[in-house]
Amino acid sequence: MSTVFHNPLPIPVLGFCAYSGTGKTTLLKQLIPVLKQRGLRLAVLKHAHHDFDVDIPGKDSYEMRKAGARQLLVASHVRWALMTEDPQESDPDLEHLLQQLEADQADLVLVEGFKKLALPKIELHRAALGKPFIYTEDPNILAVACCDDTQLPAQIQRLDINNIQQIADFVLQYAEQWQAPAAKPLPLDACETGHGDNLAVRQGIEKILAQVTPVAASETLALDECDNRILAQDAISPVNVPQHTNSAMDGYAFVYSEPLPQEFVIKGEVLAGHSYDGVLQAGEAVRIMTGAPLPQGANAMQPRELASESDGKVSFSGKLKCGQNVRLAGEDIAKGAVALAAGQRLGAAEQGLLASLGFAKVQTRRRPVVAVFSSGDEVCQPGSELKPNCIYDSNRFTIKAMAKRLGCEVIDLGIIEDSEAALTAALSGAAAKADVVLSSGGVSVGNADYIKKVLAAIGEIHFWRINMRPGRPLAFGKVKDALFFGLPGNPVATMVVFLLFVQPALRKLAGENAWEPQLLPAIADEKFKSRQGRTEFSRAIAQLGNDGQLHVRATGAQGSGMLSSMVKANCLAVIGERDDAVEAGQPLYILPFGELL
Ligand code: AMP
Ligand code: MG
Repeated sequence: MSTVFHNPLPIPVLGFCAYSGTGKTTLLKQLIPVLKQRGLRLAVLKHAHHDFDVDIPGKDSYEMRKAGARQLLVASHVRWALMTEDPQESDPDLEHLLQQLEADQADLVLVEGFKKLALPKIELHRAALGKPFIYTEDPNILAVACCDDTQLPAQIQRLDINNIQQIADFVLQYAEQWQAPAAKPLPLDACETGHGDNLAVRQGIEKILAQVTPVAASETLALDECDNRILAQDAISPVNVPQHTNSAMDGYAFVYSEPLPQEFVIKGEVLAGHSYDGVLQAGEAVRIMTGAPLPQGANAMQPRELASESDGKVSFSGKLKCGQNVRLAGEDIAKGAVALAAGQRLGAAEQGLLASLGFAKVQTRRRPVVAVFSSGDEVCQPGSELKPNCIYDSNRFTIKAMAKRLGCEVIDLGIIEDSEAALTAALSGAAAKADVVLSSGGVSVGNADYIKKVLAAIGEIHFWRINMRPGRPLAFGKVKDALFFGLPGNPVATMVVFLLFVQPALRKLAGENAWEPQLLPAIADEKFKSRQGRTEFSRAIAQLGNDGQLHVRATGAQGSGMLSSMVKANCLAVIGERDDAVEAGQPLYILPFGELL
């Protein structure tokens, strides 16, 4: 009988329900001060059955509203009120109303009315009225407050309707024990399930990662050569950063002592790269430049804008505090601390940090070697003439580009003709040189047998159906010591499968620390369709909206062969296994392309 209710607030909501005449409002008027006195900040939301007005004719707010303002907010230093004219036939929507409250100003919302909604409630019952119970029909009743002589089954929590303190105890306990329901689960999380060779995305990723051992070999490289490489050992700081306690601004270093002198005698000047050799005493200061070491004895500095100098003395305005505007030696990185951990990918900031510690060389892992080929008699080399009924090979180029961006060394094996002999030769040759062999095409049902036969002869292979779109078929296995990925042939599917399955494998192989795709929350600006039990990756464009949130819309037609949809997109909108659609205006997660595409 009750309608679904989701509490949209980060605080608990508790309803009171009763037949009219039970004394609901009287009880709430007694309960509210008791709860307040026990430290609970309350918001109350009351349902009214009839037209009502809280305003008085003649008041400005009343007149402006009657003149046609749909919303009117009247405010003073003691109170503000928002009035909204909502000429709807139907009952107001509790979830929407709750969202109008300031959840950070209250610990609990008490709701009077909205009897039919499935929100947690206390039922008030007076036998003398001769009305039926509500709890027998409504499973959301947490307790029944009734008279002494009322019969209740033992499993129903009973409260005394005349004992306000007892009801307050119950409400307080409820508020304390309440926990916000978990946020919408992330798509791609561990709870997804598949069966046999039919795998959820996460299961596929985990099965693959279980087979990946990071490359062991490392090499020492000049700092200039190490861009996008993976650090093989922890970089331990040989120095304190900053090396000396120094000034954060241009101004005056001084001795903070109490009582604080009115003015300070200027003893000298320290420029960056120089030092003041003496020891400052109470009542003394030096002129100092940003980054210059603080003289011994000095323990604070005041910027030039808050200082005035005359006759060899300086006086300060503004607040003064011991230690202010001073960067302590080692506060960024202490000598002997791990400045960068092994497994870190070295980008611009990391290279700068290593340089700041004085490193000219770094120990990095060997780059993974990836061999790439395409298969299919219809696939032609770009630059050659396109034969009838054929297509140019694009997959090899998307795959190579993504592998290179991940810092891999790439061997291009070209297009392998559809013959067992050619494929056997290509695969065994590739496996001898590469850590990973990537092919595309030929893994969907219908043509799988052919690759299956060759791989079974020289390695081991699994053909999976991943519960995702695009990119359902995926072959994964080993040829000798090399990992083999047979990616689906459709160009978009190839890229999406690379992003989701090959990327984590290459990162782990390269020695990068546990890497996870970073999903971001966004709002759907249009309906995204999917199907339950399948994860849908729609090519999409995410943009920051005026509301400060990311908004996402699809790039248009989503054919798994349409590379233009990848070009237009800056992310994949991810509709997880549990959803069959995300409506416009609803939250969803996106997987930004980041620097990989
Ligand atoms: P397949 O998985 O071999 O059945 O291929 C599925 C679709 O992807 C077919 O339309 C192929 O023509 C296409 N395809 C296969 N390999 C490539 C490639 N290297 N570049 C572009 N499209 C491809
Ligand atoms: Mg094919």
